[in-house]
Amino acid sequence: MNDPYATSVAQLKKIAEILKLPSDIVTRLSVHDKFLEVHFPVTMDDGSVKLFTGYRAQHSNVRGPYKGGIRFSPFVNPSEIRALSMWMTWKCAIADIPFGGGKGGVIVDTKTLSESELERLSRAYLRAIYEIIGPTKDIPAPDMYTTSEMMGWMADEYGKLAHGYAPAVITAKPLEKDGSEGRTEATGLGGFYVLQNLAEREHLDPKQTTVAVQGIGNVGYYTARYAHDAGYRVIAIADSKHAIKNDQGIDVDAAIEFKKTHGSLEGMPGTTAISNDNLLTLPVDVFIPAATENVITSENAEAIKAKYVLEMANGPVTSDADMILEKKGIPVIPDVLANSGGVSVSYFEWYQNMHHEHWSKEKVFEELKKKMNSASEEIFAYKESHTISFRMAAYAVGVSRVVEAMKN
Ligand code: NAD
Repeated sequence: MNDPYATSVAQLKKIAEILKLPSDIVTRLSVHDKFLEVHFPVTMDDGSVKLFTGYRAQHSNVRGPYKGGIRFSPFVNPSEIRALSMWMTWKCAIADIPFGGGKGGVIVDTKTLSESELERLSRAYLRAIYEIIGPTKDIPAPDMYTTSEMMGWMADEYGKLAHGYAPAVITAKPLEKDGSEGRTEATGLGGFYVLQNLAEREHLDPKQTTVAVQGIGNVGYYTARYAHDAGYRVIAIADSKHAIKNDQGIDVDAAIEFKKTHGSLEGMPGTTAISNDNLLTLPVDVFIPAATENVITSENAEAIKAKYVLEMANGPVTSDADMILEKKGIPVIPDVLANSGGVSVSYFEWYQNMHHEHWSKEKVFEELKKKMNSASEEIFAYKESHTISFRMAAYAVGVSRVVEAMKN
């Protein structure tokens, strides 16, 4: 049975063994400080009223206010929200930002709602969780099928209830509504900085390093583009419908432009069409899953020929596949490090809002680079000194920071 919360607790127990944590700490960190289930009505465009179910999990705030996205999806369930909330605690600690872990979600298929229904839903969910969030309590952000526009509506709704606009309550807002410069590029650019750290440590020459990227949306596009600009040979990219390949390297911007004008990646001059399964198993130096979860599974892990996997999507490698890749000697740079650029810039946004500042894009990128470099260095060093996987090293660094904060 797929039970993400059970998986997250099992992972914590493994880390606890490495860190030799006492059982009372493990028991404390296995549960959430708070888990709220809400049911709230929303008026539809035709005048009918529909009842929705949502959640907000608050795992731990020992390092700072809870932080984590809001997911709108038909598959949202308490186990998933609890797990994602615990993972956010570790991710914020790994990135060394002063936040704990939270996560929220609503069971809804956004494709069935109009824009005005989505606005009413966003505002109604915010009202339902209002009591437990706030700029110094719990700071939501977007996640699957939620947008920066929705964050703008929610920040506005929060301001009405709080009798004063408080933009720091939510991050990844639109720029004109106190969002941060550079948030759009943040996750992909952060992943590129991690790639640079990996290349330096493993003595990879970018010009000789081939890369394949699955998913060319926000995260995949920026990771691929920054890699391409730095001289890496991005030889294959894919969206949900098509995958294309060119052994000499693909100009990522030209490919996106081609997709815009032709409606598809297929037919891009100089490239050949391959299947998405084929892209997964190309003999590249670095494979970058940047689309969705569970793409490398026990079914296909044996066939992976990449030398490294950089997890830009959340959870693209299942736990079974993780073990297979480890046995095959393919290091996996985990999502909690690789895609933490997003939450780091969310922290910068919160900081700017709290201090009434507005940073330039250059400053945001400079601070992001510092954060990604120090997190990478620390995790790479921990991995080497403990001969464990990158994933275990990342979790060990994150969990030990949380445990340290529990002592204060
Ligand atoms: P997005 O919707 O902008 O892009 C997703 C891309 O993946 C699209 O190009 C889509 O066509 C493609 N895709 C979907 N299914 C595919 C498949 N089976 N094969 C190949 N391509 C496929 O989403 P995003 O914001 O780029 O997020 C991608 C992943 O990164 C998600 O797992 C998300 O949770 C994670 N993530 C995003 C952020 C962020 O700041 N956006 C931060 C951390 C983690």
